[in-house]
Amino acid sequence: MPGAGVLGVMGGGQLGRMFVHAAQVLGYRVFVLEPDSASPAGVAADRHLQAPYADAQALADMGRLCQAVTTEFENVPAGALRQLAQASRVAPPANAVEICQHRAREKACFLQAGVPCAPHALLGHTDDVARPELANLLPGILKTASLGYDGKGQVLVNTLAELPAAWAQLGSVPCVLEQRLSLRCEISVIVARGADGQQVHLPVQQNLHRDGILALTQVPPPDVSPEQCAQALALAARLADTLAYVGVLCVEFFVLNDGSLVANEMAPRPHNSGHASIDACDVSQFDLQVRTLAGLPLVQPRQHSPAVMLNLLGDLWFAGADAQLQTPDWAAVLALPGVHLHLYGKTEARRGRKMGHLTVTAATAQQARSTAQEAARRLGLPRFWPDDAASGSSSEAAPPPSKP
Ligand code: ADP
Ligand code: MG
Repeated sequence: MPGAGVLGVMGGGQLGRMFVHAAQVLGYRVFVLEPDSASPAGVAADRHLQAPYADAQALADMGRLCQAVTTEFENVPAGALRQLAQASRVAPPANAVEICQHRAREKACFLQAGVPCAPHALLGHTDDVARPELANLLPGILKTASLGYDGKGQVLVNTLAELPAAWAQLGSVPCVLEQRLSLRCEISVIVARGADGQQVHLPVQQNLHRDGILALTQVPPPDVSPEQCAQALALAARLADTLAYVGVLCVEFFVLNDGSLVANEMAPRPHNSGHASIDACDVSQFDLQVRTLAGLPLVQPRQHSPAVMLNLLGDLWFAGADAQLQTPDWAAVLALPGVHLHLYGKTEARRGRKMGHLTVTAATAQQARSTAQEAARRLGLPRFWPDDAASGSSSEAAPPPSKP
């Protein structure tokens, strides 16, 4: 119960940090297991157990000291969750995490649940890259079956002749080749499911990626119909049921040019695209993670403000003409109305590294866009919309931002 318990989290990244904050608001103490000595969640936690994720002694300590344990990243060893589950309540369950860790298992789960996904094939060994029928999937994207993130571990393949080199470039590890689809836009859905099967969800989020990394999320989604939103929510709910899921699950969808939805991937945890829920909803994705983990009541979140979330990557620290390390002009963006700045406490900025995010809330979606555009300008980021689309002289149904 709030105020009394100890919750554990596997992993010390920013998602763990925001979980720690949400849990501490309810009076929980939070212990983090993380090998790095200085991590975003480790420094915020009540206690940091510094050990490898699969360390048997550390897992025994976590199981003994915490009444319930969750994870903040999907690559936590499933065996570690199984060991923890012998001593403590664990959510999400190891089986579901294991499915999300592997693109082929994930796609098999989509199909089992009757959720459409991109045509694809698993390439398990060297001989597979010579299979002539793979031509049907080209042009396609070759993705490592596991450990990919932020567009890493992916290569575009246009012809069969390019396939062996692409496979070698990815380290000759098991890969999924999937057809490259023509996307109208991308959306994501975050659901929370309790141990009793009850589900609630956050509003559908529309996502824009730059260089394979999430750059911007808009809620509500400007280019998606209510029917498409309802369909995405229903498909995500079906996946959570199929996995007998407990916890917060994010499902990413492509919206194709004909308006149909295709599931891309899922994450067994809160997701970067759900960060706006902290400032724009009365229950955030991290509150939902705490509630599902602790077995507290789930109530349907309500979005009280339209929002735009901008990711703050390490590149911002090198934005000057001389590429010298600099601190972005936070005062300039905080001078804008409705700006919520979140920094993750990472000591070293690197290009492409997620250092923080900024959520703009406003009375209307157009106002949120216009302020987000101005914040991006003050930070030196490329604009996201043509200026008239952001500032309101055109309709709410402005064309989707072009994909870089
Ligand atoms: P990651 O684990 O890096 O998020 P994703 O599979 O989600 O990997 O791919 C990252 C991005 O690449 C997607 O959000 C989308 O923009 C693009 N992408 C991935 N797969 C496809 C595809 N089959 N067709 C078109 N675009 C794709
Ligand atoms: Mg993705």
